[in-house]
Amino acid sequence: MKSWEENVRKVIPYTPGEQPDFPDMIKLNTNENPYPPAPGTLEKIRNMNPEQLRLYPAPGADSLVNALAGYYHLKKEEVFVGVGSDDVLAMAFLTFFQSGKPILFPDITYSFYDVWADLFRIPYECQPLDEQFCIRKEDYLKENGGIIFPNPNAPTGVEMPLADIEEIISGNPDVVVIVDEAYIDFGGTSARELIHKYENLLVVQTFSKSRSMAGMRIGYAFGCPRIIKYLNDVKYSFNSYTMNRPSLEIGLAALEDEEYFQETRQKIMHTRERMKKELAELGFRFADSKTNFLFVTHPEYDAKELFEALKEKHIFVRYFKKPRIDQYLRITIGTDEEMDTLLSFLRSYKK
Ligand SMILES: *Cc1c(COP(=O)(O)O)cnc(C)c1O
Repeated sequence: MKSWEENVRKVIPYTPGEQPDFPDMIKLNTNENPYPPAPGTLEKIRNMNPEQLRLYPAPGADSLVNALAGYYHLKKEEVFVGVGSDDVLAMAFLTFFQSGKPILFPDITYSFYDVWADLFRIPYECQPLDEQFCIRKEDYLKENGGIIFPNPNAPTGVEMPLADIEEIISGNPDVVVIVDEAYIDFGGTSARELIHKYENLLVVQTFSKSRSMAGMRIGYAFGCPRIIKYLNDVKYSFNSYTMNRPSLEIGLAALEDEEYFQETRQKIMHTRERMKKELAELGFRFADSKTNFLFVTHPEYDAKELFEALKEKHIFVRYFKKPRIDQYLRITIGTDEEMDTLLSFLRSYKK
């Protein structure tokens, strides 16, 4: 190693799901939405005046903050907006997990948490899910430096009852509890209302999955005005202009089309419920999912082999070579047509 390299911050980066590019592919590996964003967003893009790009955007992303506050019946001081929820979560790690005590999150969960913890030198302790892949609330009622978990959890899809979440929040008044609700719009119950009751709660959501805008990078968070102020202070100390002008405008357009939003999320939930039946009939096993994906295993198939076989047909799903879950595949819910193609492959697999 060269001497200058000894002074480099070394990290093992998060590995995102692959982004293959085949015209005929069925992409079910990164939980993107199979439907296009709301039609109003397209119109907004068409009518956008490039002249506006000369000017910096509003540092507080006020237009989108106000619109989100209106949509969720909150005060604008209770809303934070960032470049996808990954940006919001990274800022939150940097802002709230400063005690030097280990933060807690599940052993099987979003694999970015340990990466941010390592990047920011935050100690952490993983808490094992139970055999049914449920988070055990008791594990989060001990001394810690902060708590984060997705609800529903990823990649399991399992939702934790709101009463259990509230117990974790109320049992941890000395630290911030972050609930990552990336998939909440697919049938889960949000902890959002609890921000009025608990100052130590931050709820994070995103446009990436339920609003079909992973490519736009819009995430947001709810919390009491104090917690949002702390988050903004760190953000302004890092990069004032995180949200670009097109994202702000297009995000606004997406939020305005409630009918389209309801229609597409219902379609996905409907397809998901159908897939639960079909996959169960084919012998697959899975925990009940309240998300836009299913986390499945099959007693007779090796998950990695099936993953490779699907890939050969340009059907991409997600495989994690990790303890406890290396016999599982995470399959994003696509269109009904895409699911039918997947099912017909699975019906003939190893026959
Ligand atoms: C997808 C996902 C995110 C990140 O989404 P963004 O595209 O950055 O908004 C965060 N948490 C979980 C659990 C996710 O699955």
